[in-house]
Amino acid sequence: MENNYDIIIIGGGPAALSAAVYVGRSKYRSLLIGFPKKSRIYGDYVVENYLGFASITGREFIDKAYAHARKFDTEFLEDEVIRVSGKGPFDVETASGKHFVSKALIIAVGLPKRRRVVKDEDKYKGKGLSSCAACDGYFFRDKKVIVVGNGNHAASEALELLHYTPNVKIYSNGLEIEIDKNLLGKLHKHNIEVEKKRITALKGQPMLTHVITEDGEEEVDGLFIATGQAASINMALDLSLDLDGNFIKVDKNCATNVDGVFAAGDCTGGILQIAQAVGDGAKAAVSALRFLRDKV
Ligand SMILES: Cc1cc2nc3c(=O)[nH]c(=O)nc-3n(C[C@H](O)[C@H](O)[C@H](O)COP(=O)(O)OP(=O)(O)OC[C@H]3O[C@@H](n4cnc5c(N)ncnc54)[C@H](O)[C@@H]3O)c2cc1C
Repeated sequence: MENNYDIIIIGGGPAALSAAVYVGRSKYRSLLIGFPKKSRIYGDYVVENYLGFASITGREFIDKAYAHARKFDTEFLEDEVIRVSGKGPFDVETASGKHFVSKALIIAVGLPKRRRVVKDEDKYKGKGLSSCAACDGYFFRDKKVIVVGNGNHAASEALELLHYTPNVKIYSNGLEIEIDKNLLGKLHKHNIEVEKKRITALKGQPMLTHVITEDGEEEVDGLFIATGQAASINMALDLSLDLDGNFIKVDKNCATNVDGVFAAGDCTGGILQIAQAVGDGAKAAVSALRFLRDKV
């Protein structure tokens, strides 16, 4: 029971915090998982277009919003969601190894931040290069694959790939390794090496056959790009949510095509502004409360 919730909100920016205010004032048990200090607006940028605050830094705005949301009954956990699954109730797994179950989900994880990390990435998309282990792992059964990334998302993708091949390793592309102890333990247990190697180029015609690193050429069948946090796209694929380009598709009530799953803020597209994120968070929360009242 302890890990069972009515609503779990994933995210920590204006959309998630706004949703937390609404659900935190209801009778339902709710949990927000995310890091407010990692919101896109958390910094010294001056915001002058959010009603009621003629001039405020993003940092101050989030600190105030976080304090406001904490006044009510939503519980808060600073952790990273690495996987969501199920058709309702939904399972939520975090980087620190915690598992939760929730009747409804609000996804408010912001913009997918993935930058191109390896030259020629586009040329090899679908030809040995992927960014979704659950979608494409099957094509690499018993093949040699490298996951590129330095955080929990990379670790989670590497572990997912073990369902298809034992030949998996992680290259952080020169960055410091920032993987939680729980996941590092799992990687170690399954003999998945984590190295700081930087990939400078890709090779193969038309399929990817080699990566070039500072140590020279290395044969590979598959390269999985898993930089940053598990993004909205990964969550959408895990839950079979419809996408509109890179954004989660929602209706005017912030409902997705899957019953019980709602999405809010930048991850749904639109004007990518705080005002929209706050409004969406409220809408998604009210829709989730109605879902619980009417359907569960
Ligand atoms: C430089 C800059 C200046 C801006 N200036 C303005 C401005 O003046 N006015 C304005 O209205 N807008 C401005 N914006 C836009 C504004 O920042 C966004 O529209 C707003 O932050 C969107 O809120 P959000 O909650 O949807 O996403 P975000 O604020 O990006 O929050 C997403 C949250 O989800 C968390 N998250 C992501 N993945 C996971 C995961 N796997 N597990 C747990 N948590 C996760 C992130 O850590 C983050 O806390 C600016 C943006 C930038 C970059």
